[in-house]
Amino acid sequence: MPDVDRIRIYRYCPRCAAEAMSVRGPQLVVCGACGLHLYYNPCAAVGAFLVDREGRVLLIRRAKDPAAGQLGLPGGFIDNDESAESGLRREVREEVGLELGPVEFLCSQPNRYPFGGIVYPTLDFYFIARVDDLGAARALDEVQGLVVRHPGDVTEDEIAFPSLRAAWQVFRARDPG
Ligand SMILES: [Zn+2]
Repeated sequence: MPDVDRIRIYRYCPRCAAEAMSVRGPQLVVCGACGLHLYYNPCAAVGAFLVDREGRVLLIRRAKDPAAGQLGLPGGFIDNDESAESGLRREVREEVGLELGPVEFLCSQPNRYPFGGIVYPTLDFYFIARVDDLGAARALDEVQGLVVRHPGDVTEDEIAFPSLRAAWQVFRARDPG
């Protein structure tokens, strides 16, 4: 799927409503009438490595495209006016029914998320949280099933999204086992 055609999103200027928008760079659209510079920056998203006392990780089998059937982490897009940590707690609550204690930042990775026929550039922030009992997790929103595995038992081709495959390498390098 090709990258989103920004000129189609911004056909009319959101400030003066002129039909005078032109693409000036990989993430910049400019209005020829009023001079507005409109930047098309990545959407922020989060994912949680939830780890139990034995070092096992909770993965979700994705119910929907993109990457239906592949393994992902609980997480999702950040709402307006929400912190990454708050969004992480909300998504984990909504998707697997767990309330998180302290969370620790792991790394961020750029990603491209195809949805509804267009591709959204995203910046995915990954966190680690310790969970006493991953058996308490339930498959809720947009989750087909839950998988609890030792990280060494997950193969790269099972993992959804290049950004998560990259974060998985960071996670494994830090926490081998
Ligand atoms: Zn304008």
